[in-house]
Amino acid sequence: MKNFFLAFLVLIFSLSAFAQKSNPPGLDLIKEAELKKDLYAFADAHFKGRSAGTLDELKASMWLVEKYRSIGLLPAGDDGTYLQFFTMWRNRIADNSSIRIQNTDFKLWKDVTVAQMANVNINAPIVYLGNALNIDTNNLDVKNKVVAFEAASMGINLNVSLPTWRYSRSVLSKYAMPLIKRGAIAIIIIADEIADKAWEDANENFKRGTYDIEGGPNATVNTKVPVLWVHKNAKNIFANGHLNMEANLIVEKYPYPSVNIVGKIDGTDAKLKAEYLLYSGHQDAHGIRNAINNDSTYYGADDNGSVDVAMLANARAFMKHPAKRSILFVIQGAEERGLLGSRYYSSHPTVPITSIVAVLNGDMIGRNNTDSAAVLGMQVPHRNSTDLIKMVTDANNEGPKFKLDTTYDKVTHVEGWYFRSDHVPYARLGIPSIMYTSLLHEDYHTPLDNAENINYPKLKKMADWMYRTGYKVANAAIRPATDKNFKLER
Ligand SMILES: [Zn+2]
Repeated sequence: MKNFFLAFLVLIFSLSAFAQKSNPPGLDLIKEAELKKDLYAFADAHFKGRSAGTLDELKASMWLVEKYRSIGLLPAGDDGTYLQFFTMWRNRIADNSSIRIQNTDFKLWKDVTVAQMANVNINAPIVYLGNALNIDTNNLDVKNKVVAFEAASMGINLNVSLPTWRYSRSVLSKYAMPLIKRGAIAIIIIADEIADKAWEDANENFKRGTYDIEGGPNATVNTKVPVLWVHKNAKNIFANGHLNMEANLIVEKYPYPSVNIVGKIDGTDAKLKAEYLLYSGHQDAHGIRNAINNDSTYYGADDNGSVDVAMLANARAFMKHPAKRSILFVIQGAEERGLLGSRYYSSHPTVPITSIVAVLNGDMIGRNNTDSAAVLGMQVPHRNSTDLIKMVTDANNEGPKFKLDTTYDKVTHVEGWYFRSDHVPYARLGIPSIMYTSLLHEDYHTPLDNAENINYPKLKKMADWMYRTGYKVANAAIRPATDKNFKLER
């Protein structure tokens, strides 16, 4: 009995010693209070929502640079700095564009909005087709005509994130595209009730236009057929027939600056220090937009300040306790404009691309239930490294023990969430890559995504999980392999 008790004590001691051993040494340096302090500063109204390409994003960049410097990271951007600037090409409808329907001026963005841009000068009769549901595309002659119809929501899933914005895209692809294919030279969509309610949200995006890096599909506007929206109450104009449209649309294209913030911590192993574990987040949010609850600042606290401050906490931990491999911290610009910073960095890396052993990206890690979370890239076909997923899973079991939501990796999932963050360009290059996320919430891309609405104990657990994973990857004898059969579905 006594011996049994002694054996039991020995077992307890060795188990607790083992538990302690499995904690990486810098874990205590990741502090909830510090995450909170950093996030309140970074998601402050001072930065006006950090819209990509604006001085507000650059101000936020400088804040991050100062953090990198004070933590002690080495500059790993261009020319011995923490910065890697890149050019975005922005295309938008110029202010001196004009639209007249039946001799009435339609004021741009107020009476009419441009869902698809094109450089055109049109003076042509309008064919009015009535409600979208009654259009029989197959028997229509719309060649060289301006075509108008009423939007219809039947068969369009509105139970998705950003429904107002996506509704306009769905109507366009479902009803406008077939008419364009049959030769229409311009499309006018008359809003239904849903589209009228969504007007402000969708309009904010249309006004901004499109952005891309050099060589990207949206760097130049190639569409030749404009798609316009008018309000629901304009419908009676169209019922009269013998209509005409004069439209002079001018697309202006100009360069816009954005920047990636890049710092590193050298590894301790003479050989492995030439390899890098890359932590990834994005600095930009949605700027100043249409007000919701009298607030027009889209702070981007969860999206993606949460990950940026978690990366700073990880940097503090690795700074004090460096790993065998070097650690690279890349906080990318212009993610919200089409993953532009990560597409740029992955095509212009400041370290040899083959030396990047894994990418731990995060997007939105500070909301929802404290005990559940997700890593995208865990399930086939998004999983590109079984080795990396084992480390992620082990790290979760040893630390935060999140219940994992695996549904978002499904090809059939309506959100396509996997494709909406900065790990994707790296995964496409065959680098083991994942995204940590606490998933969607109703404040996503609104002024309510602010520092007050963050779940800080959750954020701390997510930052821990990223650190535990990173510590394994950066110290592993062999770098995680890329799965041979990896192939994304799009
Ligand atoms: Zn994001």
